[in-house]
Amino acid sequence: MLKVENVNKSFGGLTAVAGVSLDLADNQVTGLVGPNGSGKSTLFHIITGFYRADSGWVLFRDKPIQDLPPAAISRLGLIRTFQQTRVLPFLSVRDNLLAVAPDQLGENILPVFFRPRAIGRQERDNRRRAGEVLQLMKLDHLADRPAEELSYGQERLLELGRVLMCRPKLVLLDEPTSGVNPTLIRQIVQLIRKLQVEGMRFFLVEHNMPLVAELCERVLVMDAGRLIFDGAPEAAQRDPAVIEAYLGKNREAS
Ligand code: ADP
Ligand code: MG
Repeated sequence: MLKVENVNKSFGGLTAVAGVSLDLADNQVTGLVGPNGSGKSTLFHIITGFYRADSGWVLFRDKPIQDLPPAAISRLGLIRTFQQTRVLPFLSVRDNLLAVAPDQLGENILPVFFRPRAIGRQERDNRRRAGEVLQLMKLDHLADRPAEELSYGQERLLELGRVLMCRPKLVLLDEPTSGVNPTLIRQIVQLIRKLQVEGMRFFLVEHNMPLVAELCERVLVMDAGRLIFDGAPEAAQRDPAVIEAYLGKNREAS
């Protein structure tokens, strides 16, 4: 489904991603872990078009996407969330969802004059989808409240909801549970499970290893820009290189 081939990215003298290659099958939830600064978010930025790789290729469903802008990549069905949430505080929860609905014909002036019926249909479709997503997120009771009233965890849910509006095939989640309370974490886990059963695929950065083991059939580990492990989560936790990557970081910090 997603192929990354020999991707490199430096910032000045610092190599953030070094020769990373990976191949995600189309039937799995895959985790990406590694110490802080190991290049996980940068890799996600590159895959989703927010950063350009210095070299290498990214293929989504066999189509090269490394030169496409984020909007074109999301139209292909590959969408991400950010480590920092990006909801619009003054819009209602529902309008936050509608604001990202795909292909808004009404935004272009010509169809407003020539295709009013198509726009009406699309608006109804988007409203229906927003209703479904609100239910999935268990945020329907807050649909008309301004997003700024949400708790931090609910904001993270809403951000995931914005992604789901576009019915993606593969979702990249950057630390979806960081700062989220245990109840909402369970809700996010159940949601990922349910969407997985419905055919959506996930690639997620997550620090909580028990959660990675619970959700992911496969985990990739990065350290200093390189991929140092690819396999089952249980094996990752026993792998000497992985252990050293984490311990080494702790030694530097102390
Ligand atoms: P992770 O998500 O694994 O914590 P990042 O991908 O955010 O790591 O960062 C990898 C390295 O690249 C870090 O050393 C970070 O400081 C650096 N980096 C990331 N983004 C930028 C940027 N826009 N400009 C300069 N350095 C960056
Ligand atoms: Mg990060």
